[in-house]
Amino acid sequence: MLKPPPRGLATGVAEHRRDREAGRVVYPVISRRSGGLSLGINLFPDAKLCSFDCPYCEVFPIAPGMPGFSIVELESELGAFLDSYDQGPAPEPLRDICLSGNGEPCLSPHLGGVLDLLARFRGDLPLRLGRPEIVLISNSSGFSDPGVSDLLERFYRDEGLVVWAKLDAGNERLFRAMSGLGAAGGLSFDGIVAGLLAFSRRVPVVVQTMLCGLDGAAPSASDLEDYSALLSRLVREGARVREVHLYTFARPCPSGRCSSLDDAALAGAAAFVQASTGLRVRAFGRSDELPPASDGAA
Ligand code: SF4
Repeated sequence: MLKPPPRGLATGVAEHRRDREAGRVVYPVISRRSGGLSLGINLFPDAKLCSFDCPYCEVFPIAPGMPGFSIVELESELGAFLDSYDQGPAPEPLRDICLSGNGEPCLSPHLGGVLDLLARFRGDLPLRLGRPEIVLISNSSGFSDPGVSDLLERFYRDEGLVVWAKLDAGNERLFRAMSGLGAAGGLSFDGIVAGLLAFSRRVPVVVQTMLCGLDGAAPSASDLEDYSALLSRLVREGARVREVHLYTFARPCPSGRCSSLDDAALAGAAAFVQASTGLRVRAFGRSDELPPASDGAA
């Protein structure tokens, strides 16, 4: 059971979204996957910037006129977070500082400067806030860019950067549907997989996968088999996968095309993937993390 967040911090999906859509660069939330208080960093407060167009993307159109991202504003909002932190009834430790929000962080020209600032911020945190991980959530499309992969590897080595890498499909057809890139999209499935493999040989990743209904159709048994086979191949070929997170549609999204898998279907998928790949698999249903497959719950 998570404790309440510090006063004034977002507790739920709606508040979290409102904070990002209001152009906030720093948005504290209680995160199921982090298991507590997480500080989201939004590198795109003025407009979504992403190489994908996922049908389940929760980024709604942003009101015009928002100022663009600046390191100065980030520093100021981090300071404001610290000022507000002790006002809560029972402030809990900060589990992570998470780069995500309104787009693909690896596309930001500020990424290196932001990682530098977050490392300094974490180093200066008072002991009562703990030592949060710095997490980067990526759609995996930038890993084949040497500038990006070198930068992330350096922060992994120096600061223990944790990278969550999206892989929503084990075949081209589902990849195209889930990435929103369509049949003629510029990024190739094979290219994304090759970039993920090369990067995860250098930096361990948490693989993140959305399993949801799309236009009324859930992923098929053969989609899951393709996905497990791809994960197994990646590991055989040297990918370092810390764990796999399967999650389902749980937040409102502008496309209106997606639906949640129920807990039983998600738990069954998690048990299958875990058994067939040997990887640790965590599953996040609509409202909560599901018990691990090894507990016999899936
Ligand atoms: S990768 Fe993330 S930000 Fe980009 S479209 Fe997909 S869900 Fe949205």
